Amino acid sequence: MSETVLNKFLRYAKIDTRSDDSSTTSPSTMKQFDLAKVLKQELLDLGIKDVELDDNCYIMATIPSNLPSDHPAYSKVPTIGFVAHVDTSPDVTDENVNPQIIENYQGGDIVLPADNSIIIRESENPELKNCIGHTLVTTDGTTLLGADDKAGVATIMKVAEILTSSDNTILHGDIRIGFTPDEEIGMGTRHFDVAKFGCKYAYTIDGEMPGELNKETFSADSGIIRITGRDIHPGSAKDIMVNAVRVAGEIISRFPKHIAPETTEGHEPYVHPHTVEGGVGSATIKILFRDFDSKGLPKLHTIVRDIIAEVQGLFPKAKIELEVIEQYRNMLDTLEKNPEVLDNLWEAAKNVGANPYWKPIRGGTDGSRLTEMGLPTPNIYNGGQNFHSKTEWMSVNALEKTVETVLELVQIYVKNAK
Ligand SMILES: [Zn+2]
Repeated sequence: MSETVLNKFLRYAKIDTRSDDSSTTSPSTMKQFDLAKVLKQELLDLGIKDVELDDNCYIMATIPSNLPSDHPAYSKVPTIGFVAHVDTSPDVTDENVNPQIIENYQGGDIVLPADNSIIIRESENPELKNCIGHTLVTTDGTTLLGADDKAGVATIMKVAEILTSSDNTILHGDIRIGFTPDEEIGMGTRHFDVAKFGCKYAYTIDGEMPGELNKETFSADSGIIRITGRDIHPGSAKDIMVNAVRVAGEIISRFPKHIAPETTEGHEPYVHPHTVEGGVGSATIKILFRDFDSKGLPKLHTIVRDIIAEVQGLFPKAKIELEVIEQYRNMLDTLEKNPEVLDNLWEAAKNVGANPYWKPIRGGTDGSRLTEMGLPTPNIYNGGQNFHSKTEWMSVNALEKTVETVLELVQIYVKNAK
């Protein structure tokens, strides 16, 4: 009855679960329940008794410890959780995902079948050269793939299947499973009940290639600039019209180009105007503020406020307002105070031959907020690349390595229990 982790992934990827950052409901889109209900049923079918799917589309479930009472680690292994998100990015559609499977990849660019203009280029994908001989999964060029984070979901479901099977010999403590909605719109933990989850540590499985582990994320705020102009028929507009489109253009042209995502890397901060909407009467500009040092964020806000003040001078009749919304904070400090959560992960990745290294995430994960909420939660790879795009791809070998890593990790918690 066992199903490969790839087949689990392919089934989940075909379910449209795109979240929506303009929604005010929780979950932001009801279709996220389409996958959540499937997962709930599959967990029940594995014999897991306490599966809960709540009204906000959060799933929690327990794989109970199987340690015999005479085992030296009995009752000493902390409860650990594994978390993945069911939604996919609002940036690109995930309707009718039609995955392409490339067996025994031999190098070279990958042209996607339904849109030949979309190419996964070797030159832009250094990880491809590490995947010679692997089975790769891509899209057909018309959607994203959803490895972010259905690869994480599939990993957890495969681990659950293995650990609950009647012939399982892997010893482990209590393991909690958490599936969340709306991670992609920064709301993945809005209704996450950390106390109810009841774990000492957790891990998100929402990273990229095996070996890359994450204990550090950006600190993040988002912003929205609201511009109110004045619309009037262009034929009689002289000295009356205030064109919000022009105001938006002036603002955007002033964003510093050297602190943009496309010009920065490593630990460098950025300010990123990513969405413009509107017309003559009103317009909005959505912005991301990102810095590994939380203290740097107010400086980024000031850059935008100064731009607004300057443009306001050019358009005195326009109303221009900036709203800043706190998103998440770098989890590094808290995680380093809990070395066990990091050391055990490192040991697991090393033992399965994944050559671990720590890489700062130029983004956030549910773990950033969970760590802030008192649950130390670093991030594990899941085998995907180029998230949020039509060129998203995944290595099946890497996905299988992720499953292996999680199984090793639960055993290390037993081995290292004090
Ligand atoms: Zn993700």
